[in-house]
Amino acid sequence: MSTTPDTANGSPPAEMVCIACPLGCRLTVGRSASGELSVTGNRCPKGVAYAEEETLSPKRIVTAVVRTDSEAFPYAPVRTDVPLPRAMAAGLLQQLYSRTVALPVRMGTVLVEDVGGTGVKVLFTRNLPPAEVPSPGAGAIVSSGQTSSAPRRLERGRSKQRH
Ligand code: SF4
Repeated sequence: MSTTPDTANGSPPAEMVCIACPLGCRLTVGRSASGELSVTGNRCPKGVAYAEEETLSPKRIVTAVVRTDSEAFPYAPVRTDVPLPRAMAAGLLQQLYSRTVALPVRMGTVLVEDVGGTGVKVLFTRNLPPAEVPSPGAGAIVSSGQTSSAPRRLERGRSKQRH
């Protein structure tokens, strides 16, 4: 499905790839002199919606790090929960880079409740300190899924083969 580009006296057509599904259709987006958008190359209506949003009101997931009060873990990663209008990304990054947060923080905890009245939240994307960090003086940590009984099971298996 597509609408025919009509760019007579309008803007030159723009090329973009639809990312609304894995097919990744190559879209051509034109704008007529009256401002009407036209889209070709899309295989379904989602491509038109994607092209319109990308042309008229592009949005992006914003990822960043914020400083912490910890020397061991000086930065905590964060991201918006949904795409933010691209024009607001620079302001948000400036706000995030000026902050310092106190550890611990938990993945999924909200750092910013409402970015500029959009309803978009900023969330921590990692537990800090991470759960696997050993406390001072503790022994080496066995990676998840392994236990100290694993070598014993291996020994039992070998002894069975000998019989
Ligand atoms: S236009 Fe439709 S089929 Fe093509 S990539 Fe976008 S969502 Fe997928």
